[in-house]
Amino acid sequence: MNIMDLYKEDRTILSFEVFPPKKTSPIESVYGVLEELSSLKPAYISVTYGAGGTAADNTCAIARKIKEDYGVEAIAHLTCVNNSKEEVEAVLRQFKENNIENILALRGDIVPDMPPKTDFKHASDLTAFIKSFGGFNVAGACYPEVHPDAKDEVEDIINLKKKVDAGAELLISQLFFDNESFYSFMQRCKIAGINVPVEAGIMPVVNKNQIQRMVSLCGASLPAKFTRIMNRYEHNPEALRDAGIAYAVDQCVDLIANGVSGIHLYTMNNPYVARKITEAIGKLL
Ligand code: FAD
Repeated sequence: MNIMDLYKEDRTILSFEVFPPKKTSPIESVYGVLEELSSLKPAYISVTYGAGGTAADNTCAIARKIKEDYGVEAIAHLTCVNNSKEEVEAVLRQFKENNIENILALRGDIVPDMPPKTDFKHASDLTAFIKSFGGFNVAGACYPEVHPDAKDEVEDIINLKKKVDAGAELLISQLFFDNESFYSFMQRCKIAGINVPVEAGIMPVVNKNQIQRMVSLCGASLPAKFTRIMNRYEHNPEALRDAGIAYAVDQCVDLIANGVSGIHLYTMNNPYVARKITEAIGKLL
């Protein structure tokens, strides 16, 4: 199915993200999570792509399983910073053989001890390459609070337009905790002539370690309201989980009321949290 068909109606769609198990765990260890998430009937589930050798195999196998065994559409993520053209071509052939039709084309993070390969400098290069390979619908990532490598928001939005011009038909945002940052990003998209659907990335924070890790990784700013909740309940895991879910629901309600194209829930492979949020907002979509 072409993922773009989901955005034809004037309603907000709900999608999920999952990640493959660590290399030390068998792939089957994620199947229970997939089954529970699929039963919530998201519009699609996206599967992240990790660095290193078996990344494509696991992403591909999980995306295929989501489609074939659980009847939910899938998007496979694909990064290019550590791949040559030949390696990307091999992955695209593998995706095709496994009936994957939708790809989230990413540059990937540049890590200090792994010098990037030179065939693809930006996600826009990968996007153009996938489009010329043919047979895939391509989505891209975007950053309401600006990608950390960009000089400023103007440079970042100009670069995002290049990605859309290269063939990205859908954008999925980095997580954020302040909806106002998403709304001003949407204004910048409009000014730049970026008219594709943009899904808002929402991460329900359900434990304190998760928030510290996430913020150091992606640099999301923390509104005072959010910090107060985290500080108040940091020593009460159940209360923190419930407060984190309530905060995410509050964000979603406001986004839906503002007519967002989609909410992309970073589930962290936690079906309990995904269920609570789906139940809370299901009738609003
Ligand atoms: P790009 O779009 O290439 O942007 C990176 C930087 O380059 C930005 O500063 C941008 O302004 C600049 N730039 C972009 N295009 C151009 C151009 N044409 N000319 C000049 N400058 C340009 N990482 C993983 O390893 N695996 C995953 O599965 C994964 N999934 C993700 C899903 C989502 C929704 C998001 C938001 C991120 C995900 N990431 C994942 C993280 C992502 O790989 C990093 O954020 C990475 O640093 C940037 O990837 P990108 O595709 O956004 O890069």
